[in-house]
Amino acid sequence: PTPILEVNGLKKYFDVRGGVFGRKVGEVKAVDDVSFTVNEGEILGIVGESGCGKSTTGKSILRLIDPTDGEIKFEDQNIADLSAEEMRKLRKDMQIIFQDPYASLNPRHTVEKIISEPLLVHSELNHEERKERIKELLEVVGLRAEHASRYPHQFSGGQRQRIGIARALANNPKLIICDEPVSALDVSVQSQILNLMEKLRNDFNLTYIFIAHDLSVVKHISDRVGVMYLGGMVELTNKDELYDNPMHPYTQALLSAVPVADPDNRPDRVILEGDVPSPSSPPSGCPFHTRCPMAMDICKEIKPEFREVRDQHFVACHLYD
Ligand code: SF4
Ligand code: MG
Repeated sequence: PTPILEVNGLKKYFDVRGGVFGRKVGEVKAVDDVSFTVNEGEILGIVGESGCGKSTTGKSILRLIDPTDGEIKFEDQNIADLSAEEMRKLRKDMQIIFQDPYASLNPRHTVEKIISEPLLVHSELNHEERKERIKELLEVVGLRAEHASRYPHQFSGGQRQRIGIARALANNPKLIICDEPVSALDVSVQSQILNLMEKLRNDFNLTYIFIAHDLSVVKHISDRVGVMYLGGMVELTNKDELYDNPMHPYTQALLSAVPVADPDNRPDRVILEGDVPSPSSPPSGCPFHTRCPMAMDICKEIKPEFREVRDQHFVACHLYD
């Protein structure tokens, strides 16, 4: 496999301000030292509860927010160092699809105008060629070309997400960050959109980072899956390995919440106790120790390193020291 994206030691800290003078009173480590690689043509699922840093990781990769520290290498360029102008050019190759297609589509613009925007910025197409390209894109995502003159509110939620996908595809990107693209859709529509996205990946040799808050959504579509907790990656491996042999207690807990056909046959069920701690005052040692049924003394003191424990299976947990 050829890496298309390498993230090394990514950090994004936000200042917490307070008091009458708005002084810095603390810091939220939204993403704290995250490293992973994405291979060309693969779908990497990233899963975790809200506030775990998965969206912040996605937005940092596109430089929609500036990372605090770390390296983001896209095809051998360090994105973290690029100027705004250099980054603008690179945006042609890297796109994002958002959770709420309605919020990301301008309600006063027709579909034609919405999809022409990225073409006007990044392509040399003339008016006629642009119209042709828009028609083609709408067909590719399963919409009718003659609906290009309609407005977003005239489409269903699933159709609006198809418009968002068409816009993301406009300039033949290489990498698409999909930030919970089906979470706002009805379950019946979710699988249609997932099937479409998988087909597009195959047809256009795309690479996806697919962000979701539960493991069932990414199970079908991902090649590898990473699990995040409180700003850190806690486990990352091939899809089958993760679902058959989860090693991190947090992943085990997430998996035991996924419905299975035969609940009596469920391997040792791990129940998560308590709430996710506040990211502004994360626990010492292993960030998961306050909720971990397997926690040991060392877990309160020392943060476990994220390392390859088995072949291509990365875990941050003292159980495997
Ligand atoms: Fe649980 Fe300790 Fe492993 Fe953290 S390091 S997940 S607290 S066993
Ligand atoms: Mg999010």
